[in-house]
Amino acid sequence: MSTANNASTNNSATPNNGTVTASKELAGRTLSIVNVYQSLLGIYGDRGNAMVLAERARRRGAEVIEHVAEPGSPVPDDADIYVLGGGEDGAQTAAVRALAADGVLARAVERGAVVFGVCAGYQILGETFTVGHDNAEREGLGLLNAQTVRCDPRAVGEIVTRRRGVTGNDALITGFENHGGQTRLLAGTEPLADVIEGVGNGDGTEGAVKGTVYGTYPHGPVLARNPALADELITVATGVQFAPLPIQAIAALRAERLEGHLGS
Ligand code: GLN
Repeated sequence: MSTANNASTNNSATPNNGTVTASKELAGRTLSIVNVYQSLLGIYGDRGNAMVLAERARRRGAEVIEHVAEPGSPVPDDADIYVLGGGEDGAQTAAVRALAADGVLARAVERGAVVFGVCAGYQILGETFTVGHDNAEREGLGLLNAQTVRCDPRAVGEIVTRRRGVTGNDALITGFENHGGQTRLLAGTEPLADVIEGVGNGDGTEGAVKGTVYGTYPHGPVLARNPALADELITVATGVQFAPLPIQAIAALRAERLEGHLGS
């Protein structure tokens, strides 16, 4: 896996009242992004993750195809990035059933596409998860070596983590978590980050990465709050490293979110 977070040169991107002229590292390329089951896995504005990926790729010169897939219709089989958001227990169970029947995400991972799941979307990428008042264990999609079990109390609040393998401000991930499940990672899957504040997986780690499959708990949407993570996903999907894409408003919001957590 490669990361885009440490690009240190910035040749042509210039902040200018929110208008950005970016480097065009993706000129001539097409990037296809699927927002998976927006009606089931779309609480907390997680659809914004797909929008952020699309916009950041466009500013790098890519032609972006965006697709919103819903249960009952096949999920496109040829996309570069699949994005799943959070959802209540019932919706989460319905989503995993439909996705398992479709099989599209397993095929996508097989051919190297990126799958990015948030909260419920993260939990269903694992092997098993428990949901509902009866703590029934359900089968996940098995794309991450991870098992999610119910825990008390529910994890609700701001979360700040540090992305493993990334240095500086880009490593810091902020978001809002709200989940009753905690996730244990098994051999073959690595944490995405280490918790600075909040709960995450429940053992000091947060999220998971296995090849091109990513899971994480923070909402926000998390890719709007943490553009370096968004760029990492686009880099993994395309193999292209990027110069930073400075956007003043995002930098200001990010500084505000991190203030008080780290004195930065
Ligand atoms: N139902 C899951 C849980 O509570 C996920 C919730 C969510 O996506 N916010 O753990």
